[in-house]
Amino acid sequence: MQRFIHTRSLRARLLLVLVLMVVALVAALALLADAIIEGGFLALEERDVAERVAQVSNAFDNSIVGLQRTTLDYAQWDDTYAFALDGDRVFIETNFVDTTFLYNELTYIAIVNTTGTILYAQGFELEEEDFTDPPAELQSFAGPYATLLQHEQLEAGQSGLLLLEDGPMLIASKSILTSLGEGPAVGTLLMGRWLDEREIARLEALTRLNFSVWLLDEAQLPAVLQPLAAAGVEATPFIQILDDQQILGATVMSDLSGTSGIIVALELPREVYQLGRTTLRNYTLVLVGAALLFGVLVLFVVDRTLLRRTLSLSHQVAAIGPHTPEVRVEALGQDEVGQLGEAINQMLQRLSDYQTQIAESEQRYRQLIELLPDAIVVHNGQMVRYINSAGARLLGNGLPATLVDQPVHPLIAGLSPRPDGVPVIQEAVFHTPQGAVLEVELVALPFYDQEAPATQVIVRNITERKQIEQTLRAAKEAADAANRAKSQFLSTMSHELRTPLTAIIGYAEMLEQSFADAEPAEVQQDLARIHGAGVHLLALINDVLDLSKIEAGHMQIKPSMFNVSELLDKALATARALAQRNGNELVLQATDDLGLMYSDEMRLHQVLLNLLSNACKFTHDGRVSLTVSVLPEVGPELPERLVFAVQDSGIGIAPDQIGRLFQDFVQVDASSTRRYGGTGLGLALSQRFAQLLGGTITVTSELGVGSTFTLTLPRHVQGGATNIPLTPLASSDQDAPPAALPGGENRIVLIIDDDPAIRDLLPRLLANPGLHFETAASGEEGLELAMALLPDLILLDVLMPGMSGWDVLKQLKADPDTTAIPVLMLTIAEDTEHGVMLGAANLLSKPVEMDRLGQEVALLLQGQGATQRLLLVEDDPDIRTYLRRTLDQGGWGVIEAEDGETALRLLAEQAPALAVVDLMLPDMDGISLIAALRAHPHGTNIPILVVTAKDLGADEQAQLNQSVAQVLRKGSFRGDELLRSVQTLLQRPMKE
Ligand code: ADP
Repeated sequence: MQRFIHTRSLRARLLLVLVLMVVALVAALALLADAIIEGGFLALEERDVAERVAQVSNAFDNSIVGLQRTTLDYAQWDDTYAFALDGDRVFIETNFVDTTFLYNELTYIAIVNTTGTILYAQGFELEEEDFTDPPAELQSFAGPYATLLQHEQLEAGQSGLLLLEDGPMLIASKSILTSLGEGPAVGTLLMGRWLDEREIARLEALTRLNFSVWLLDEAQLPAVLQPLAAAGVEATPFIQILDDQQILGATVMSDLSGTSGIIVALELPREVYQLGRTTLRNYTLVLVGAALLFGVLVLFVVDRTLLRRTLSLSHQVAAIGPHTPEVRVEALGQDEVGQLGEAINQMLQRLSDYQTQIAESEQRYRQLIELLPDAIVVHNGQMVRYINSAGARLLGNGLPATLVDQPVHPLIAGLSPRPDGVPVIQEAVFHTPQGAVLEVELVALPFYDQEAPATQVIVRNITERKQIEQTLRAAKEAADAANRAKSQFLSTMSHELRTPLTAIIGYAEMLEQSFADAEPAEVQQDLARIHGAGVHLLALINDVLDLSKIEAGHMQIKPSMFNVSELLDKALATARALAQRNGNELVLQATDDLGLMYSDEMRLHQVLLNLLSNACKFTHDGRVSLTVSVLPEVGPELPERLVFAVQDSGIGIAPDQIGRLFQDFVQVDASSTRRYGGTGLGLALSQRFAQLLGGTITVTSELGVGSTFTLTLPRHVQGGATNIPLTPLASSDQDAPPAALPGGENRIVLIIDDDPAIRDLLPRLLANPGLHFETAASGEEGLELAMALLPDLILLDVLMPGMSGWDVLKQLKADPDTTAIPVLMLTIAEDTEHGVMLGAANLLSKPVEMDRLGQEVALLLQGQGATQRLLLVEDDPDIRTYLRRTLDQGGWGVIEAEDGETALRLLAEQAPALAVVDLMLPDMDGISLIAALRAHPHGTNIPILVVTAKDLGADEQAQLNQSVAQVLRKGSFRGDELLRSVQTLLQRPMKE
């Protein structure tokens, strides 16, 4: 409907536009025509009036000319000539009779001789055909009319208008000559004619015009002629429009005296003007008619050629439905409407093609769905709307038609799809009508069935998959069990191997010391060999353990901040001995400002040492160099890296062997084992460590020339602990001499170990006059002794039959009497974290380096007696308790403060050795508190450790850098890290 209204409105609009156009056009043309025609006709009218006036003037002139001619006829006649001379009246009586006057329309004749004597003068009344007296003014010619008698030439004369008492008269005078026109003139003949009503009527008849005659100086002169009276002859012809109908034309005629005159005025109908008006009206009418005709014609044509056909097209398109795609519109003609019809038909064709394609595609997908092994059901909640063949087989007798519009299976109906279209997946047990029990996976999706919301459910039989999964799971569990058994075996084995090794190495060391100065030398050598073999065997066991740990994914890196140059010095110091053994020169090529590195220092040391020892091992009397350089950051993918290149001038490696170098247990050539020793594990482990630290090891080598092993590592390892150490933790100096044992005091050291060799060995190794050793062979015995003796230090083995070292530690820490006793754990498992959390002062791995042990014991005993107190400032009670317990377990005394004010008070009262401060406190912020702590004499020099959950800005960090020792991030540091930091800051080193 809308369309038709629209079309009609289009027609109406077109009509409106046409009407407006015609009106505007007609108005414009009419105005133009009016201007042109009116102007033209007015000019024409003026010309016409001027002509009529001239015509009347001419009539007067003609009248005067006629008078002159008559006067001439009589003046040049011998008889008149004679009469002028002799005055014989016969001439008068025969010639100037009444008919002479009548015939010539004369009202006055006079003959005057040359002396001025009037010989004859006679007036005549034409109306009454009777003689009258001549006009009084012409009784004598002495006055103003004397000019009538003066003729410059013989034949010339005077003529014109005379304004006389009785009225205006037309007059002519001629000299009297002979018939031959010869002189001398003997007088003047004058003839006149009254310009009376008769004459005027005659002239009117002649000119066929009506006019009126007025005296110039007449009192009753009409107002319209007044301007003419004033201006005189100058203003002639005078034309004045009187009204729409009348126009006035006038002229002035002067009398012969020149002093006055008459006005001859014509009142004329305005015919020309009226004609103009009529023409204009007719023209306008024709114009309007033509415009209307044009409008109607245009409307008709537009309607026929455009509107009707467009409307028809619109009707036809509207009639096309989704089910009549083959219908085409009919639009005849080659014009635009025809093209539009053509375009619509093309579009319909494309739509129809597209529909066919869709239908084909739908058909294809239907076939696919029918062929699918999965059951597909579309339902509306109650009834099945569609089901494929597989569905019919699963849910019924295999015929989809029998299931459509039947109630849907409750299991399928129970699964509702999510409105956002994300598939809802559920597994279920399904009982088929045939009695089989299947495991199925149901996937529900929202769907539309004939524009109504519906659900599509795919039912997949996963019984087989489940069985396979079951089998795989069982297999995996078996494999896991086997792996656990292997790990257990390895761990037990290594413990079993390492425990006797501890004894072997320990005793060998002691014997070496005992025989240091004694003979025989062979014994010393033998002992050195036993010692060397023990150390080698230990390294081998450690390598195997590391490798199996990496394999099991249990190897964890322990990153910390350290000084690269210091690490290099340490590694070179160890390698130097190896280099000297083969007569090699060992060189370090690195700048001093390598800076800090955040990585696993111990593992990096291990890798470098492995590369250096290989280089020294396979080079004789040559050169081994370690070159360290820095690769700058290249975007976030490639952070700043350090490159450690170990180059030697040794035997080199064959190209075909290089690829196998990093495989486990591979040595380039089997004979080298015999010649050089080694297990073939070093490079494999080193490569794994390098990868764990985010880097890699590459190698280039040439047989007989030498090899270069290049280790590239990021300066900052990713994924480690994220605390921000502002200053590197002081690394314990392993080369430092053992701390002197506090002498003169009787300190009790309790050794708890099931291994008798250890119980025997340790007192002898640590022998010191100030120390008294007690031993216990089991955990239970150890506990009893600890309680009875309250020793100053306990050395505790972890792996013991019955009660384990951990259990003993727990009980020691749980008892208030023994909780303060430092416990040094000796273990093969490097579970430092666990140990420190449980309260161990430190852990040493077996076999224990005797120097390390001595150092530790001395330090732990030194710390005794003066319990160092720590100030803990933290407002959150839970976190405070957790931190306090952690510090308690480390054997530290803790003073707690929940806000800044309390903290400052406690600082003043108790003078703690270190402060652990939270940055976000209720009353004053951490930074102000730190400033206040530093301002107090007790707080000026103590280390401050910040624990914060806050993301520090660069400014805050810089500020903290100057006043605190370390910042730990809440949620990302472990208890042992806190303890380690505290211990390090208070110089109680703790290293595995
Ligand atoms: P091993 O403990 O046997 O040295 P590695 O994994 O460290 O085990 O080395 C594997 C093998 O690679 C060595 O046995 C040796 O054959 C070869 N290799 C390693 N480093 C060098 C080197 N610098 N020059 C020559 N050969 C080397």
